Amino acid sequence: MMAQYLGLKADFPDTLVFYRMGDFYEMFYADAERAAALLDITLTRRGQSAGEPVTMCGIPFHAVESYLAKLIRLGESVAICEQVGEVTGKGPVERKVVRVVTPGTLTDASLLADKTESVLAAFYPGPRQRCGLAWLALTQSELQLAECSMDELPGWLARIGPAELLLPADVPDALEARIRGLRLTTPQGGPLALSLRPAWQFDAALGQRKLCEHLHVAGLSAWHAEGLPQAHAAASALLAFAEHTQGQALSHLQALRVARSDAQIDLPLSTRRNLELVQTLRGEDSPTLFSLLDTCMTSMGSRLLKRWLLEPQRDRGEAHARLLATAVLREAAGAGHYAKLRAQLKGTSDVERITARTALLQVRPRELVALQLALQRAGLLADSIDGLPGLLAQIRQDLEPPPECAALLASAMCEEPAALVRDGGVIASGHDTELDELRAIQNNCDAFLLDLETRERARTGIANLRVQFNKVHGFYIEVTQGALDKVPADYRRRQTLKNAERFITPELKAFEDKALSAQERALAREKWLYDRLLGQLQAYVPALSRLAQAMASLDVLCSFAERAETLNWCAPLFVKEPCIEIERGRHPVVEARLAETSQAAFIANDTRLHVKQRMQVITGPNMGGKSTYMRQVALIVLMASIGSHVPASSCRLGPIDAIHTRIGAADDLANAQSTFMVEMTEAAQILHGATRHSLVLMDEIGRGTSTFDGLALASGIAAQLHDRTQAFTLFATHYFELTEFPAKHHAAQNVHVSAAESGGDIVFLHEIQAGPASRSYGIQVARLAGMPAPVLHHARHTLEALEQQASESRAQIDLFAPPPAAAQAEPSPVESALAGIDPDALTPREALDALYRLKNIA
Ligand code: ADP
Repeated sequence: MMAQYLGLKADFPDTLVFYRMGDFYEMFYADAERAAALLDITLTRRGQSAGEPVTMCGIPFHAVESYLAKLIRLGESVAICEQVGEVTGKGPVERKVVRVVTPGTLTDASLLADKTESVLAAFYPGPRQRCGLAWLALTQSELQLAECSMDELPGWLARIGPAELLLPADVPDALEARIRGLRLTTPQGGPLALSLRPAWQFDAALGQRKLCEHLHVAGLSAWHAEGLPQAHAAASALLAFAEHTQGQALSHLQALRVARSDAQIDLPLSTRRNLELVQTLRGEDSPTLFSLLDTCMTSMGSRLLKRWLLEPQRDRGEAHARLLATAVLREAAGAGHYAKLRAQLKGTSDVERITARTALLQVRPRELVALQLALQRAGLLADSIDGLPGLLAQIRQDLEPPPECAALLASAMCEEPAALVRDGGVIASGHDTELDELRAIQNNCDAFLLDLETRERARTGIANLRVQFNKVHGFYIEVTQGALDKVPADYRRRQTLKNAERFITPELKAFEDKALSAQERALAREKWLYDRLLGQLQAYVPALSRLAQAMASLDVLCSFAERAETLNWCAPLFVKEPCIEIERGRHPVVEARLAETSQAAFIANDTRLHVKQRMQVITGPNMGGKSTYMRQVALIVLMASIGSHVPASSCRLGPIDAIHTRIGAADDLANAQSTFMVEMTEAAQILHGATRHSLVLMDEIGRGTSTFDGLALASGIAAQLHDRTQAFTLFATHYFELTEFPAKHHAAQNVHVSAAESGGDIVFLHEIQAGPASRSYGIQVARLAGMPAPVLHHARHTLEALEQQASESRAQIDLFAPPPAAAQAEPSPVESALAGIDPDALTPREALDALYRLKNIA
């Protein structure tokens, strides 16, 4: 047996192997040690193999799902090895790895989070610092490709958020270490699992061919996915791995998308974190923008909403269509039409995942029944939105369930099938005559036995003779001790009990053979019919995927309508000229929290940014509402960009290409980076990345170092953003000196959050008003925070002294005067980049790319 185990294990060196032995899955040696530590189960030593005791641990088979879930969350992969042969008594039963469960290839509802995709990604480092990426969620029908430079890789990985990343086994150690150093986490919060795959599987030509095969096309031009060798190489490994773990090809793959960073509004990792889009800064799921927006009725809808939220498009076409559809659902189709649709959507099962599992031939009987019900719902929904325009008309079309599919399911499936096909009772009666006949034999059993009992009682004169069945001994006639002398000669003894004997007769034996074989044959027939059904369903997979997508979209749109109505949001207006104009804007999450705790109402604020007024320098006391105001602007811009209504009374929005944020950071101790270093790194990234169409939030930059350093850096950064980058910038600062900035920078403006003082106490009004703050109220805030009186007294005294000193020595330094030219001019970024280019080594396409890059730097 150990030889068999080691043979199987050799194919899965990096994967825990669950080796089935009776009612347990056992693990051995290093696997056992690792699993025992991770699962906190007991490690034992038994027997001997090659003279050494065998270290092992086991888990009961019926609890396998919960152990799997735990291991996968911890980033492990598991190969499940089942007994597949008959027990022969000669050597161990034949065993085979029937599925491999890895963090990126889960499809089982019990192992997946409802609202989060589990994404599998592959990475291929190509020549000249270019790399290819391919990724997909197995439960979806779309594969995505991207190529990027090595520098852009962290951003891409953050955006994709994979649960598992495949790398070629020959990836340089330094690169692997760099990727690990990013310390990316999965959407569930676990560590990103890195899986090394054989280098030959990363093959561009093979990848292209496989993609064509999967999509049933001759070329990839329909998706603009040609000429991407690095991405094709990644796709080749991705598809190979998916097949390896699922034990078959992905037949439900239907679409390809080439993701280009310039098509999306850039949301760097820091922005997602700081704005608490899907996770709070503490790592919780709520309250976040997503948790507020997500009132979807189905998990398909929730997942789609999350995708829209994290992948906002620069092009406004889709967002505009969604806004129109939302408006129709709110009004044109009759007030509150969305509520009716939501009632119809409620409780609909996860068609998207069921469809994927159907395509992978892993779908369970109950899921198919759920699918059948969902198809009926889809029909109802289609009727309910019949005749509505735009996006809704398209959704209406895709919602139409393929009629033969519904009929097939209705005829084939029992209404309440067993959980597993092997238990029988899955295929409906009337679907297959052979199955019906086999079942009839079983059902007639009872009648036959009763009849036999009556006849035998009459023949033998034994009044308490009984004909019965049990699983171990089969059918028998039971006669009690006292009546044994009346037993006829044709009775054969089957078993002796304390007070009775059990017999069998030739007639009963013949019946037994027929009944038992009928049962076995019925089970086999059901299994065969179920497999045939799965085969027939394959034809409908594309239509079902579209239907799932349509349901999810409708669900999100109804959610948009519901949120807009309930929370009193308005539809944003997209315009061509660069601007962000918000009237009476609110922070949706803070507002909801205030409403819940029934504290004071949220104070709405206006925002007016355009080309001639691109920057606001925001001052005012701590706790005054600066961060809230800045974040609310960013959230409104993002919400508008995905086609949601926004918490404001009106909103006009020009083109936006990115939202950058630099907001207080915790020390990144594990990476040995100080707060200040993190702060400067992020600020530098923003200065490099932002354009005149970006929105930049800078909260208290320069706080992490000494006052003078910090002030000097903050003013330098403000000047760069204003003069060079020209991004829309909200710049909150506690450096009062910076309020002089707008005097010399025509596109900047001072605003402050208002506060009033009454009797030494401070009252925050949370209103954004023009002009600089008059004072900072630090001591009043400290008092609110419960600072002991002697400290406050001391501070007040010191403050007075400092203020006096400052007013006496007001020899002004002009913070914003341009610095004298550097003695030896350093090469500009463009010059440095040019120096790194070897024109002779470039293809025309690469040359064009290089030109674009240079243009961006300039
Ligand atoms: P700052 O950044 O100026 O220190 P915050 O933006 O963190 O201040 O705001 C502090 C608290 O004040 C918030 O948690 C919120 O409860 C409240 N607050 C902020 N802005 C508003 C507003 N516009 N209306 C009502 N309450 C607000």
